Amino acid sequence: MRLVLLGPPGAGKGTQAKRLSQHFGVAHISTGDILRVNVRQGSPLGKEAAGYMDRGELVPDALIIRMVEERLHAPDCQKGFLFDGFPRTIPQAEALDALLDAQRQPLDRTVNIVVPDEVLVERATGRRTCPACGAMFHIRFDPPRQAGICDQCGAQLVQRQDDTEETVGNRLRVYHQQTAPLIDYYRRKGLLAEVDGRQTIDAVEETILAALRG
Ligand code: AMP
Repeated sequence: MRLVLLGPPGAGKGTQAKRLSQHFGVAHISTGDILRVNVRQGSPLGKEAAGYMDRGELVPDALIIRMVEERLHAPDCQKGFLFDGFPRTIPQAEALDALLDAQRQPLDRTVNIVVPDEVLVERATGRRTCPACGAMFHIRFDPPRQAGICDQCGAQLVQRQDDTEETVGNRLRVYHQQTAPLIDYYRRKGLLAEVDGRQTIDAVEETILAALRG
């Protein structure tokens, strides 16, 4: 199974990507996660990307495409993969097509998780993640049992630096300008499935699985 998850920031791509990659036994590739690891480690890529990320802007295509190409060569991608947060521009989508054509491994589907803007700000600003195990929570919609503590491993939860109200607003503007055109790009290729992301997490997953079966 080779999938792309599309949707604005806060739509639930990361949450669904974790579940779906487990369900299908394929690699979960989040370009945002790879970038955050690089920023934490202070690698040259991380140093170059950090400013863009803090402002809620996109990291330049060339850096992202090189990073994805390297990731796709890892052995765990043989069985398939699920992209979360990539591609985010038309040139990234074209580069992905070229990479996959060369490997004769075309995409099976692209799933767009649709959520209106007004819901997204509340979702993104309430999001908390566990830096130790990657578990995700929401202070209103999916709170941990003990405030600020990861249910799964007991670590202190953190808020992503770019989940402040101001940066989320900027990320939404960037999404509409640069990423939303991908919806038509994949629709024209006959690959697009759209699901309502306002449902519960379980219901969104079920809807996606049903769309993939259909
Ligand atoms: P995410 O975790 O997917 O929301 O990504 C967090 C930030 O990383 C974004 O706001 C961008 O600055 C950067 N980023 C992640 N994926 C990409 C991508 N495919 N293209 C450009 N920038 C990206």
